[in-house]
Amino acid sequence: MTTPKTVAFSKHSTNLFFHILTQCNLTCRHCYINPEQHGKQILPAATATAWLSQFAAKSRQTNVILLGGEPTLHPDLPLIIKHARDIGFGSITVDTNGYLFHDVLSKVDPQEVDFFSFSLDGATRKTNDLIRGEGVFDACIAGIERTISKGFCASLIYTVSRFNFHELENMVPLVKELGIHRFFIQVIGLRGKAARTDACAPDSEILPVSRAEWLETIPRVAREVARLGITATYPKVFLDLAEPFECAGLVAENYFIFPNGRVYRCPLCEDFAVHSLEFRDHQLIQTARLNEWDLFQLNIAEGCVMNKLIQPQNLRYADDGMPEYKIGCCLLKEEISEDAAAENN
Ligand code: SF4
Ligand code: SF4
Repeated sequence: MTTPKTVAFSKHSTNLFFHILTQCNLTCRHCYINPEQHGKQILPAATATAWLSQFAAKSRQTNVILLGGEPTLHPDLPLIIKHARDIGFGSITVDTNGYLFHDVLSKVDPQEVDFFSFSLDGATRKTNDLIRGEGVFDACIAGIERTISKGFCASLIYTVSRFNFHELENMVPLVKELGIHRFFIQVIGLRGKAARTDACAPDSEILPVSRAEWLETIPRVAREVARLGITATYPKVFLDLAEPFECAGLVAENYFIFPNGRVYRCPLCEDFAVHSLEFRDHQLIQTARLNEWDLFQLNIAEGCVMNKLIQPQNLRYADDGMPEYKIGCCLLKEEISEDAAAENN
């Protein structure tokens, strides 16, 4: 089996978040996919492989994350995976909702896929299925079990909102029982469906948790998971005013690629036509200014510019008008491994 590698905000690696289609069999309440902005087509395998080849020069330092929609709905996903492996990318991950269509597990092997990464948004059937749809909890658990039984590594992503925050602690025994290899805690982002008022109405509570709740709970749960020998990763989100701030759009190499050819450097920009790159005739080219690149240059006291523009409710101000803290780049991750958790005991 290939050695798993971390996908995180790094100045020394490139991450390709490659949406090979936007279709999905589910209709999650917080889905971030925006077909009006990102297209509805299934990217032909020949196009997907041509676009991947654009990053071949730095392939060993590049992590590829194949997503959708639901990427296993793409009938040629195995072909795309094998092509990515032939190019020599550092790691290949497939993000899935667990349904694993087209019998994908029997068409690729553990030498070709470093991780299948599953999304579960509740430790119970009730909470997960209220967010992701009826029957999804059982389907996802079954998908994880099949994946691990075939010798693949599995990650689990838990997107925290007010709706499922109370069940995060219960994920600790669940990830252990399932044999998960990496656990990612994500913060709900207000984009796609989650940015629309109907999905964010107070009764739905598909909203971010407060700073106090985040700081009190997230690092502690991540440490508990790490003590089980499972690497746990979560976004830093809140920075003290004295802490250094960096925008990944300026200092890191992340590419969020969509089937209509748009390529963003920041996921928070994805609801808007401000992408700084795009594929034309299979070549990656820069788009005309103004675009997201111009936003990255703005140096503001609140830290992340896009957070201030689209999620200002995450900020708090003192009486003198200054922010009480900064919001870090959403790509800035904290990672806790077993050793680090033991040292903190
Ligand atoms: S969040 Fe993912 S699994 Fe859910 S509807 Fe959107 S693309 Fe599908
Ligand atoms: S999330 Fe904020 S800090 Fe990070 S790349 Fe986007 S604009 Fe920059």
